[in-house]
Amino acid sequence: MNERLLKTIDDRRDDVAALTADLIRFPTINPPGEAYRPCAEYLGARLKKRGFEIEFIRAEGTPGDTDRYPRINVVARFDGRSSGACVHFNSHIDVVEPGDGWTVDPFAGVVRDGRVYGRGACDMKGGLAASIIAAEAFMDVFPDFPGAIEISGTVDEESGGFGGVAHLAGLGYFSRPRVDHVIIPEPLNKDRICLGHRGVWWAEIETKGEIAHGSMPFLGDNAVRHMGAVLRAFEEELFPALDRKMTRMPVVPQGARRSTMNINSIHGGQTEDFRPGLPSPNVPDSCRLTIDRRFLLEEDLATVKSEVTGILDRLKRERKKFDYEIRDLMEVLPLMTERDAPVVKAVAQGIHAIFDREPDYVISPGTYDQKHIARIGHIYDCIAYGPGILDLAHRPDEWVGISDMVESAKVMAIGLNVLLRGTTG
Ligand SMILES: [Zn+2]
Repeated sequence: MNERLLKTIDDRRDDVAALTADLIRFPTINPPGEAYRPCAEYLGARLKKRGFEIEFIRAEGTPGDTDRYPRINVVARFDGRSSGACVHFNSHIDVVEPGDGWTVDPFAGVVRDGRVYGRGACDMKGGLAASIIAAEAFMDVFPDFPGAIEISGTVDEESGGFGGVAHLAGLGYFSRPRVDHVIIPEPLNKDRICLGHRGVWWAEIETKGEIAHGSMPFLGDNAVRHMGAVLRAFEEELFPALDRKMTRMPVVPQGARRSTMNINSIHGGQTEDFRPGLPSPNVPDSCRLTIDRRFLLEEDLATVKSEVTGILDRLKRERKKFDYEIRDLMEVLPLMTERDAPVVKAVAQGIHAIFDREPDYVISPGTYDQKHIARIGHIYDCIAYGPGILDLAHRPDEWVGISDMVESAKVMAIGLNVLLRGTTG
């Protein structure tokens, strides 16, 4: 272990806190995508001062991109004195809306009692700040290092990442030979390595009916009752079957270590905008249900879909007049980086050095930008690792511990040392 590297990071404790607070003061709320440009420019200015080459990439034409809310990403690159691998730290700069229940101003960047408070403190401006401190300290201690370091601040992760990492990956920013290893400092706790995530399938199911006067429902065909039959079949067959499917993926929390499905919404019949007043009495001819199915490495997407369509097709045979349509809304395959991948081993060495223990290896129940890096960029040497407690994300009084940021910056710096210089010393 290089004591000078660790001491350099210890000496920058105030810097990491101040940087996090500064980043929180940009209210980068998504949607709609507020303050992306000034936040990206702040990052660009900071890293430019340290000798990074800076690029701002606007994701024109992606969802939500307008002149009022431009999707501005920043990518910074520092090439070492000789050729070698490139380690990329990717953080999203967008945050979700603050919501109610705060006891501090969510965008003031309050530093108090060893913590930085604010929306995005843990998810994930604290992780972004820690990765910058780690990179800067590494560059100061080993000015002759081989290879390259990249740091990006990307937008729209909270809404799917299409104007952020997906867009950049489409342009080649997350592919070889430009990049070899990617660390995403999402708040997974300072001693855990997140290897990937479960898969996602969102779909909309619509049952069809026939409109008629509500006083004579026998003249029509009620789409909501058909959907009732769908829900009953889901309750009796699908949910219990999903609950029995366990995975070898180390998903946290434990409850997500199996297949799950959420029903996101249901809409049937007349819209609710008759208020004030009374609804007109109609037999609904359409009912729509959106499902959010999360699946496992052991399952394939075709089977996942056929479990649902199998029930719908059977109802079509069994129920008079039953008809349906199903539309895919989103598909993401499950991902799990192997434990012997270089970036996993390098960060594990860092965790071992700082905490004197083996890391916990975890899988996220939901997806994050790693999906685009794998699917579009074809980089599989990718993990999420960063400070902050995942349970605090998206909640009131979100905070990140300053000591946690310092310690995880040390882990990241050791990871850099292993990946670029081939040593922890
Ligand atoms: Zn996040």
